[in-house]
Amino acid sequence: MKKRLKTVYFWVMKEYFTTIGLEVHAELNTKTGMFCACKNDPDEKRPNWNVCPVCMAHPGALPVINKKAVENVIKVGLAVGGTIADFTEFDRKNYFYPDIPKAYQISQYKYPIVSGGEVAGVKLTRIHLEEDTATSTHDKGDYSLVDFNRSGVPLMELVTEPVIHSSKEAGNFGRELQLLLRCLDVSEANMEKGQMRVELNISVSDDPEKFGTKVEVKNINSFRAVERAAEYEIKRMTELLEEGRGNEIVQETRGWDENKQSTFSQRSKENAQDYRYFPDPDLPKLVLSEAFDVPKLEAGLPELPEAKRIRFAEQFGIKDEDIESYIVDIELGAWFEKIAGILKNKDAIKNASNYIT
Ligand SMILES: [Zn+2]
Repeated sequence: MKKRLKTVYFWVMKEYFTTIGLEVHAELNTKTGMFCACKNDPDEKRPNWNVCPVCMAHPGALPVINKKAVENVIKVGLAVGGTIADFTEFDRKNYFYPDIPKAYQISQYKYPIVSGGEVAGVKLTRIHLEEDTATSTHDKGDYSLVDFNRSGVPLMELVTEPVIHSSKEAGNFGRELQLLLRCLDVSEANMEKGQMRVELNISVSDDPEKFGTKVEVKNINSFRAVERAAEYEIKRMTELLEEGRGNEIVQETRGWDENKQSTFSQRSKENAQDYRYFPDPDLPKLVLSEAFDVPKLEAGLPELPEAKRIRFAEQFGIKDEDIESYIVDIELGAWFEKIAGILKNKDAIKNASNYIT
C-alpha cells in the first residue's frame, strides 16, 4: 500500500517557473566609429580596411566620443519611455582577448545613458553605449585570424528586467525592438548580419519565490533561434530538475548550435567585478542636457510602430496582416498612406491595400 502511494506521487509533475532576461546588442548605423573617424561600414569585405591608430590601440592614440552615437541612444531611450541620464560617463571594461587590442573595451557601467523604459510590455533595466570588438576566425587551421573592421563600431547594449516567462515572449520582444530600431533609423538591426545580437539569460525554478540557476545563451542569429534556444533550455533544465539532478544546472555561458538545434556549454560565467571597471580617463564626462537638446530630440521622433498600428486600424480599417506589412516595411507603409490619401473612400482603400500587400 505504502509503496503504491509512493509510485503515484512520483508521477505528479511539479510546476516549473521560467524566467528570462535579454541582453541585446545593436550596431548603430553612424557614419564613423564610436571613438575614431574610421568608416563604419558593416559591408566592408576587405579585412582590416577601416582601421586607425585609435581603434587599433596604438600607444598615445586618444578616443573622441561620436556625438551621433550618443544621440541615437538618447532617441531609443525616449522612444521606449526611459529616463535619460543627465550625467553619464564611459568606463573601461578590462579583459584580455585578441579581438580587443586595448585589452579593455570602452563601455558604460555605473551611469548608463538610459534607465528604465518598456518594449512590447517588457520592462527595461538600462540602455548603454559601448564599442564593438574585432571579429576573429578560428576555422582556418592551426592559427586564428582577426579582422579589426568592426573594432570600435558604436554598439548599443539594452538589458531587460528578468520579466519574460516564455520563449514566444522573448521572440516577440526581439522582433518589436528590431522594428523600433529601424523605425528610429538608428540601426539596421539585421540579426543574420550580426548587427543585432540577442543573449538569453534564462532560469527554471520549481519554487515561484526563487529564481533558478541562471544560464546565458549566446550566438543566436535569428528570432526563431531565440525562441528555439529558450525552448531547448527550458526543456533541458526542467528535465534535470524533474530527475532530481538540479545540481547539474550550473551558472555558465552556453552557445546555440543552429545545425543541431541545441545549446552547448562554453564556459563558466565571470562576475562583473572580474572586469575591473573604472572610468576611462581619456574621455570627458558628459552632461547630456548641456550637450543635447533632449526635448527637441523627443519632438522629432517619428511615429512609433505601436502608435502606427493603432492609427492604421482606426483610420483605414484594414486587416492586421496588412498593417503589419506596413510596419515592417516603412516605405511600403508610406506608399500605402499616399494612395489612401488619394482614394479617401474606405472600401477603395481596403481594396488598394489588398492589392499592395
Ligand atoms: Zn579607427
